[in-house]
Amino acid sequence: MNGYKCPLCGKGQILESLTSKDYEYKGNSLTIDNILLRKCDTCGDSFEMMDDNKHMYEELLKFKSKVNGLLISSGTVECLAGRKRK
Ligand SMILES: [Zn+2]
Repeated sequence: MNGYKCPLCGKGQILESLTSKDYEYKGNSLTIDNILLRKCDTCGDSFEMMDDNKHMYEELLKFKSKVNGLLISSGTVECLAGRKRK
C-alpha cells in the first residue's frame, strides 16, 4: 500500500500512479513520462504536490525555451529548475 489519507475529503486513500502527458506548444509536441498522479479513491479528486513533478516542469521549460529559439539561455533554465525552497 502506498496510500495515505486524502487531504480533501479526509476519508479516502490517495493512490499514486505514473502516467505520461503530451504537450503541444506552438506546433511542437513533447511527451513527458513518469508523471506522478495522486488520486483519491473516495472523492475521486486528483491533485499534485508542488514537488511531485519537478522534472516535468523542467522538461516543459526547456522545451518551450527551445521552441522560442532559446530566448532563455540554458543557464537561466538551470537556475530556475534548480531553485529550491527551504
Ligand atoms: Zn478524497
